[in-house]
Amino acid sequence: MSDSSTSSSSSGSNGSDPNSSSSTPSAFERWRKKVMFVTGIGVTHEERMQDLQQLQNRRCEQMKKELMDTSPLVTFLLRHLRLSGCQVPESNIFCGTCDPQAVVGGGSVAHAGGFIPEHGAIKLCGGMFFNKKHVETTIAHELIHMYDQCKFKVDWKNLRHHACSEIRANSLSGDCRYTRELRRGFVAFSKQHQACVRRRAIVSVTANPACPDEATAERVVNEVWESCFSDTRPFDEIY
Ligand SMILES: [Zn+2]
Repeated sequence: MSDSSTSSSSSGSNGSDPNSSSSTPSAFERWRKKVMFVTGIGVTHEERMQDLQQLQNRRCEQMKKELMDTSPLVTFLLRHLRLSGCQVPESNIFCGTCDPQAVVGGGSVAHAGGFIPEHGAIKLCGGMFFNKKHVETTIAHELIHMYDQCKFKVDWKNLRHHACSEIRANSLSGDCRYTRELRRGFVAFSKQHQACVRRRAIVSVTANPACPDEATAERVVNEVWESCFSDTRPFDEIY
């Protein structure tokens, strides 16, 4: 419904904060910049990257807002967070630019977001998303971490705690497919689903500064696997 054309036109008319008008560029300056970006003349690589990042973050913010209002998965998790005493204001889920090195870590299973426990906030990496579905599963993944933090007071330096939350977040968010069956009440997980959850959990735990190596992460994930994989809260509360 709302595509990129609406976001680019609205940014001009909003005019942001009237008090800061002296520091914001004039309409002419903005127009001149726009021409420069279109033609590529007089634009440094840095300026081009900055412009791209701003655009990506604006798109990310818009998708986030829509998902927080309409996605059954996201609204379900937000509702259960609220019921558990953890209200998540819209501003606590924000889009920003992430250092690809910090995010990638484990190659193909890169996270496009992160949960910041001390602030009760979720950062979404604006430039990392393939599509809206990807934003949705990323928000859901981080909301499950937030739910665990809210309900169980997770110690993120404790690898068993971290592993348990990663198993749940990867299994329940849709990061690994076949999750829809679970939400419909079929609890027979496919082998691929389990392998995917395990692999992604190991990558995340390996990235924990308290984890010495991948072998340790693998061992810890295996140790907590049975109890954490079968713990599908809050989804099992549907029935
Ligand atoms: Zn995670």
